[in-house]
Amino acid sequence: MPLLWYDGIVKKIDNIAPNVRQFQLEVPGVDSFDFKAGQFVTMDLPIGEKRLQRWRSYSIANAPNGSNALELCIVRSASGPGSGFLFDEVKEGSAIRFKGPDGGFVLPETIERDLVFICTGTGVAPFRSMILDLLHSGKSHRNIHLIFGARSEQDILYREEFETLAKSMPGFRYDVALSRQEDWNGYQGYVHQIYLHEYASPRPDIAFYICGWSQMIDEAVANLLVQLKYDRNQIHYELYG
Ligand SMILES: Cc1cc2nc3c(=O)[nH]c(=O)nc-3n(C[C@H](O)[C@H](O)[C@H](O)COP(=O)(O)OP(=O)(O)OC[C@H]3O[C@@H](n4cnc5c(N)ncnc54)[C@H](O)[C@@H]3O)c2cc1C
Repeated sequence: MPLLWYDGIVKKIDNIAPNVRQFQLEVPGVDSFDFKAGQFVTMDLPIGEKRLQRWRSYSIANAPNGSNALELCIVRSASGPGSGFLFDEVKEGSAIRFKGPDGGFVLPETIERDLVFICTGTGVAPFRSMILDLLHSGKSHRNIHLIFGARSEQDILYREEFETLAKSMPGFRYDVALSRQEDWNGYQGYVHQIYLHEYASPRPDIAFYICGWSQMIDEAVANLLVQLKYDRNQIHYELYG
């Protein structure tokens, strides 16, 4: 079925880290924008002639909640026309044309494995949606380990929320690796060291979900497949670019 196009209205824009904004979109005329946690929408931005020049996809960062509001968590990429437009031209009250929801980066109906979520930067968006969805729906799950990577402390997205969940949500664990902050008490360096250590002995009852840009994903997939010898069907990823 072709995806529907909507004219969303930007209700709120929050700076949540240097160069990262959360955009709250509302879909007028729609009671409930239905999607599965982990899916994305694709915007048609006025930044080119051809549609492939204009289309930019963004993961939905909130959990499905039966409303018509969506949260998107977007990083400004250096001289990127899409994120540049969203940061420079889009204001609260602006209209954004988008289609969706789309994508198969979603959890199975029945969760029978431990979940390990690996991400950097705004790659955390689909995992926030999935984790909040599991929390709110009360759907049964096993352990969830969120492994987040960024450069420095100020780049940690949704930190308070995840730290609170790590204390209150049974089975949820949260680790952060920072690559450019020497006075950080947690993991220094990249996300890879964490799962390489924690999941060094392959287990059939784990599923890895990875989200972000190609360099991190390529490295993580190679580590899991080649170095740790996990099965391909245990590895799922969403590539941002
Ligand atoms: C399914 C899907 C979901 C996505 N969800 C999100 C999301 O939730 N949040 C989000 O911020 N982006 C997300 N993206 C990426 C987004 O669609 C755009 O590609 C991004 O905003 C850059 O667009 P641009 O026009 O600013 O830069 P472009 O000119 O399109 O990008 C320039 C180049 O830089 C690379 N690049 C851009 N940003 C980065 C970065 N931070 N790190 C490393 N390389 C980078 C791109 O791959 C490209 O090669 C998603 C992409 C896909 C396919």
